[in-house]
Amino acid sequence: MLRVLKKFRDIRYFSTAALPAPDTNPPILYAGIFINNEWHKSRSEKTFPTVNPATGEIIAEVQEGDSADIDIAVQAAKRAFKRNSPWRTMDASQRGVLLNRLADLMERDKKYLASLETFDNGKPYSASYNVDLAGSIGVLRYYAGWADKWHGKVIPADSKIFAYTRHEPVGVCGQIIPWNFPILMMAWKLGPALATGNVIILKPAEQTPLTALYIAQLTKEAGFPDGVINVVPGYGKAGAALVNHDKVDKIAFTGSTEVGQLIKQNAAISNLKRTTLELGGKSPNIILQDADLSHAVETAHFGLFFNMGQCCCAGSRTFVQSKIYDEFVEKSAVRAKSRTVGDPFDLKIEQGPQIDEEQLNKIMNLIDSGKEEGASLVTGGERVGDKGYFIAPTVFANVKDDMTIAREEIFGPVQQILKFDDLDEVIERANDTDYGLAAAVFTKDIDKANYIVQGLRAGTVWVNTYNALVPQVPFGGYKMSGHGRELGEYGLEAYTEVKSVIVKLNEKNS
Ligand code: NAP
Ligand code: MG
Repeated sequence: MLRVLKKFRDIRYFSTAALPAPDTNPPILYAGIFINNEWHKSRSEKTFPTVNPATGEIIAEVQEGDSADIDIAVQAAKRAFKRNSPWRTMDASQRGVLLNRLADLMERDKKYLASLETFDNGKPYSASYNVDLAGSIGVLRYYAGWADKWHGKVIPADSKIFAYTRHEPVGVCGQIIPWNFPILMMAWKLGPALATGNVIILKPAEQTPLTALYIAQLTKEAGFPDGVINVVPGYGKAGAALVNHDKVDKIAFTGSTEVGQLIKQNAAISNLKRTTLELGGKSPNIILQDADLSHAVETAHFGLFFNMGQCCCAGSRTFVQSKIYDEFVEKSAVRAKSRTVGDPFDLKIEQGPQIDEEQLNKIMNLIDSGKEEGASLVTGGERVGDKGYFIAPTVFANVKDDMTIAREEIFGPVQQILKFDDLDEVIERANDTDYGLAAAVFTKDIDKANYIVQGLRAGTVWVNTYNALVPQVPFGGYKMSGHGRELGEYGLEAYTEVKSVIVKLNEKNS
C-alpha cells in the first residue's frame, strides 16, 4: 500500500487520468442481514438509516440486527464450523483460491465499490479507489498466499516422544469494524481469519454498512460455503450481543479505547473469548532540525490530514525541534490552507466531510478547547458550509503537553505542533500518553533515528515517512491502543490455537 499511498498524494500534483469516473449515485443493491449465504430481514423488523456525510441526506434504510439476529448468525457459523463440514474439510490451498477469487471480484467491481464507499463514508473517491480498494485487494491476496503455509513445527522433544504442533482455527470469530476505513478494515479482518479456516460474523459500523453488505454478496459469488461469512449490520445492540454470546470464540475489534475496554471486560465475563483490539492513538511525529524540511512538512501534513484526520494512527502530536519550529509552523499553515475541501467525488478534492454530526461537534468542541487553553490557532478552526460535515484544515501552534488537544484523540483535521529541544526530552514527552499505536521520526542522521526508535513505546515507528501500511508488516498498539497485531505473519497468530500432539515412540521394533 505504500506505493499506492504515494500515488494518492501525488494526485494533487499530477494527472488523475488513470481513475475511472466515479458513479456519483451508485445503486444500493443490498441493505439486509447476510446469514448462511442468504439475505434476511431483522427479526425485530427494525431498520436504521445510513447517511451521505457530504450532504447529510439519507442514502438507504438498513436492516437493524440485534441479539436475536446475532444468535441466528452464530448458529449458522457453528454449523459451517462442524468437524465434517465442507469448510473444515476443504484443502487449505483451496481456502487461498477462494480468497483470491474474492479479491478478483473486488477488482472487477472496484469502481462501483469505491463509489459506494465515498457515497456512504464521504472520503475522496481518489482515496477510496487508490488506497482503500487497492489496499484491501492487496491484503486479501497476501493472506490467500498464507492459507497453506501457516503450519506447526516438529519438536525435538525429551522422553522418547514424537511431538508436533498444529495451527488450528479459533472457531466462531466476531469482527466489529469501524467507519473510518470500512472496506479496508473488513479485508484486514477477513483475510487472516479465512486463510486459517475460521468462520465469521462481521458487524459493520452503523455509519457505513453498505460496502460490507455488497462484499458479503461477493463472498457468496466467490464460492465460500454457507455460514462461513455472515454480516449483521446493527445500531447499538449487535456489537454487544456478539461480544456477550457464549458460543463466539473470539472478537476482533477496531474502534475507540472506551468501547475496547468494555469489550475486553464482557468477553472475559461471558466465556473468556479471545480478543484482539486495535484502538485509539495520540501518535507523536518527531521532526529533528536536520530533516529535509519540505518533505517533513508535507509528510506531517499527510500524516495528520489524510482521511479527514480520521485515522487511529494520525500523527496528532507533531513535535518540532526549536531551531526550525517557526519555519515549520509557517510552512504547515501554508500547506493546510492550500488543502482542497469539498465534494468527495471531485477528483481534485483532498478532503471530504467528517463522518457525522456527532464527530463534527466533538471536533469543533476540541478546537474551542485549544483556543480557550491558550494554543495559537494558525489557520482553520471553523466549519465549512452548512450542508454536510466539513471542517477547515486547522493548525494549532504553541501547543503544550497538558492541553486537551495534546492529550485527547481528536479524530479530525486538526494539527497540533509542539516545540522541543533535545532527544531525551522529546522521547519522554512522546511517551507521556496512555496510547502507543504509532510514531514517526524525521531526520537525516541514522544514529539519532535509531536512538529515538528504540526509546519510543509504540507498535509502529516510521522513519522519514508516515501512514506507510503494507500487508506484510504487522500493525497494532502498545498500552491502551490495544493488543494483538493485524497484518503480516503475526496477524495469523490471532486467529489460531496451537495444538500440541505428543506421540509415544516404541523403543523396540517388535
Ligand atoms: P466506537 O464507539 O469505538 O465503536 C462503535 C462500534 O462498537 C459500533 O459498531 C458498535 O456496534 C460497537 N459497540 C458499541 N458498544 C459496544 C459494546 N459494549 N460491546 C461491543 N460492541 C460495541 O466508535 P464511534 O462511536 O463510531 O467513534 C468514537 C470514537 O472512536 C472516534 O471519535 C474515534 O476516536 C474512535 N475511533 C477509532 C477508530 C480506529 O480506527 N481505531 C475507528 C473509528 C472510531 P453496535 O452499535 O451495533 O453495538
Ligand atoms: Mg453513511
